[in-house]
Amino acid sequence: MKVPAPIVDQTFAQLRRCGAGVSECQALWLGPWSEPDKVTEMIHPQHSASPVGFQVDPVWLHQLWLRLAKDGLGIRVQIHTHPGAAYHSATDDAYPIVHQPGFLSLVIPRFATGTVGFDQAFLARIDDAGTWGEVAIPDYLEVT
Ligand SMILES: [Zn+2]
Repeated sequence: MKVPAPIVDQTFAQLRRCGAGVSECQALWLGPWSEPDKVTEMIHPQHSASPVGFQVDPVWLHQLWLRLAKDGLGIRVQIHTHPGAAYHSATDDAYPIVHQPGFLSLVIPRFATGTVGFDQAFLARIDDAGTWGEVAIPDYLEVT
């Protein structure tokens, strides 16, 4: 997946602004179905959050599905922060925003307050059998 550097910057800025160093936050990377290896937009869901989790507003999510269908876009990657180390928790495994093979979930440690980039991040992917597994970030995300 090709991710433009400005979108990575924008994502970290959003995660930091919303989380303010004390709460989790989620961002979504969208891309057109016509170019399935490309991220073209970052969006920030309406959500509630705590130091240990977040919940996306269902009405907002419904509106998003309508917009994605209308514009030919898909959610390619979900990104969220953790208070400490980045990993995929049992809750993260159980409640992805999209559950389809190839979907990517990126976890950023320490409420994204560290260096912008994926050095300490964790990337999980749903395989063809529908099971989450850790994958190497450089194999799936290319900042362009
Ligand atoms: Zn947020």
